[in-house]
Amino acid sequence: MTTPPTATDVERTVYDVVIVGSGFGGGTMAYALSRAGLNVLLVERGGWPHRDETDWNGRAILLDGRYRGETPIAVDQKADGKPVQAFPNEAVGGNSIFFGGASLRLREADFARWPIAYRDLERHYTAAEQLLEVHGQAGTDPVEPPRSSPYPFAPPPLTAPAQRIFSAAEKLGWHPFPIPVAINHAGPREPKCINCFTCDGFPCRISAKNDITQTALAKADPAHLSILARTVAGRLAVRDGRVVALEAIDRDSERRFTLRGKLFVIAAGALATPALMLRSGFDRMDASDAIGRYLMRHCNAMLGFLFPFRTNPAAVNHKQICISDFYESVRKTDGTALGVIQDMCMPPPDVVRALGPRGFRWAAYLGAAHIQTLLCIAEDEPQADNRVALEPSGAADRWSQPLTTVHHRYTDGDVRRRDQLVAHARRVLRAAGGLAGKVRLIDSFSHAVGTARFGLDPTASVLDRHCRVWSLPNVFAVDGSFMPTSGGVNPSLTITANALRVAEHVAANFAALTAGVDPRA
Ligand SMILES: Cc1cc2nc3c(=O)[nH]c(=O)nc-3n(C[C@H](O)[C@H](O)[C@H](O)COP(=O)(O)OP(=O)(O)OC[C@H]3O[C@@H](n4cnc5c(N)ncnc54)[C@H](O)[C@@H]3O)c2cc1C
Ligand code: SF4
Repeated sequence: MTTPPTATDVERTVYDVVIVGSGFGGGTMAYALSRAGLNVLLVERGGWPHRDETDWNGRAILLDGRYRGETPIAVDQKADGKPVQAFPNEAVGGNSIFFGGASLRLREADFARWPIAYRDLERHYTAAEQLLEVHGQAGTDPVEPPRSSPYPFAPPPLTAPAQRIFSAAEKLGWHPFPIPVAINHAGPREPKCINCFTCDGFPCRISAKNDITQTALAKADPAHLSILARTVAGRLAVRDGRVVALEAIDRDSERRFTLRGKLFVIAAGALATPALMLRSGFDRMDASDAIGRYLMRHCNAMLGFLFPFRTNPAAVNHKQICISDFYESVRKTDGTALGVIQDMCMPPPDVVRALGPRGFRWAAYLGAAHIQTLLCIAEDEPQADNRVALEPSGAADRWSQPLTTVHHRYTDGDVRRRDQLVAHARRVLRAAGGLAGKVRLIDSFSHAVGTARFGLDPTASVLDRHCRVWSLPNVFAVDGSFMPTSGGVNPSLTITANALRVAEHVAANFAALTAGVDPRA
């Protein structure tokens, strides 16, 4: 890992590349570009994960928001149109710190509305699986896309709750398979995963989750990478059609300072990336009016079923089974995937009581040990009206930066696809011995994508096919924002693979890109 630079060091340097955001997109770019010999600065508003006992405390992490950022986002997603405040988590490693490890590829048909094809990303998917040390079993997913090499590591043996779902799905004639996971069960490093109960939504106290700090940042070239944590990217300064500097704020000293680079990469996540672009006035140069628009997040639900026995007495992480048999079932009618069903752990009981469906909270708390849940991930459609914008009232955070707003509504098709998956999940849980169930709709933006879509037409997309901002030749965006459709699987492996693809292009064309020569011409 690199030594933290001082503010004076960084102000003196003109970096080859300044990256904003250290999640799957930004952390992966930092890895690849530092190893290509470029001098990289990675700027992240969150701090380093604590990795102490409290990181596995359900109340501290999921309810009290130990990693919650201090800047609210006003989210309008309910029929009544009343916005509620959300405070996304912040940490070095981005949401990889909190993710559940599921690392799946999109399918060939998911690329129908993309400017690149699955075959263009295939070798980068392979490299991403190597980078994140994914444990999976090729040939078991019934709609798996073609792959040029096996997974780096075999999946761990099924736990008892996962075996229950696996057997039930098989009984129905379906083809359940082990979720490919970026969790260290058999990889080269220590420690190995101990299958604890607090994985999805939590940092891993023992660093056995293959998050971005343990993979991309640990494998980056420390001689070419500096990481500035607890530093907020405020605005990118544009001069003569190029970005020349990043105006940043040190959260501890409150000092504002300027970071200079030849090339800039925005990877602040699909909510914060368009906000940074808008704060920097990119919309005045953009011909598409797409910055912030087409926000997607999957249409997700959790189905919990009550069982006449304790479903997970050993209290193990059992996010292990995926069911994709219906993935292509609506492709002809809807032009989308249906999505997937995944095994999922119940949150700890006090969290269940706080977050369970209204009217069922105490019942869920008391019965938590007898409940087993499945997560349904349905593809949602891109709609121009679903968008991230800047607060029109001018309300600002404590650094005088305009706050961000989010407006989102699902289409009838999104809801129908989710309900179809829930119906399939209900059959599995019944076949597994469950008695009765309750659905909880997921209203978080954990799978947010799409707000700076890439494309072939500058009047309809923010980024070109290499994820370069059409109107600013020395700026790229590589987080989930680039995705023009969400597909029907969890997004992180695709974000990582795409960042590797873009990094290869940037490294190969760095001189031309920074000399102002347009390699597209
Ligand atoms: C609980 C949970 C479980 C999940 N499980 C899975 C899973 O199993 N599989 C899967 O594929 N996906 C999962 N996801 C989704 C996955 O984590 C995201 O899709 C992914 O992290 C997005 O990567 P990204 O690079 O777009 O952005 P992020 O990972 O969100 O990274 C963006 C980074 O930018 C930083 N940033 C934002 N604004 C600024 C600023 N102004 N200045 C400096 N830094 C800034 C943020 O703090 C953050 O660190 C899960 C998400 C959550 C929340
Ligand atoms: S299940 Fe494994 S990877 Fe996840 S938090 Fe527990 S020990 Fe870490």
